Amino acid sequence: MATTRKKAATAPAATAAADGAAELPAAEASANEAIYLNLLTAIMEHRLLAGTKLVEERLCEVTGASRARIRQVFARLAHEKLVTLVPNRGAFIASPTVEEARQVFQARRVVEPELAAVLARQATAAKIRSMRRHVQEEDHARTRGDRAAVIRLSGEFHILLAEIAGNAILEKLIREMVSLTCLIITLYDRPGAPACPEHEHRNLIDAIERRDAASAAALMTEHLQHIEGSLDLTVRDSGVPDFHSIFARS
Ligand SMILES: [Zn+2]
Repeated sequence: MATTRKKAATAPAATAAADGAAELPAAEASANEAIYLNLLTAIMEHRLLAGTKLVEERLCEVTGASRARIRQVFARLAHEKLVTLVPNRGAFIASPTVEEARQVFQARRVVEPELAAVLARQATAAKIRSMRRHVQEEDHARTRGDRAAVIRLSGEFHILLAEIAGNAILEKLIREMVSLTCLIITLYDRPGAPACPEHEHRNLIDAIERRDAASAAALMTEHLQHIEGSLDLTVRDSGVPDFHSIFARS
């Protein structure tokens, strides 16, 4: 279990109020937020894998939080579809099915190209610099071979775009879709496939900087197709091997 958290460049601090934390006193809400962020970062860095049981007692020990507080965090993660709550069995990191994985990418293809186009129309020079700084962080993580950070930073790039667009609704939506994508990658990644293909974030920023909304949208569509294409989404949900396809090639 993660006891420390690398500071996420785009820490999801603004979403607490929308998920019920608004009724909590400020100190309690921020303690919940810290536990939530630790778990979220661990999911995004693939340190917590799909299907992992989240043992309440263990989390209470490690965080010093009460069971009630841990349950509030689980409820929030369940609301975001990152955790599955099973009656009498507890909380598990979600295991999105192939169908859910496809739906996540379909939703991302609907939303994110338009976001890229919006940015091409309105992003200031300062905002473009912050996108470039983020991509540099991705490069540094890649250079030092820190795959966990590369995966997390790749996802956070997409959240950063929504933040920069200044649309809180989109930001929340994309944050949830990106977190789900991280789980989907742990389940369906082909061995050795990259998180977000190198250079594509940079090409996207170049189009945004040129104020070329059509190219920015097209590059985002392609980029999302590449990520989905790097996954093996032919696995059957039941876990029963697909003998038909295994023998079709022989
Ligand atoms: Zn990407």
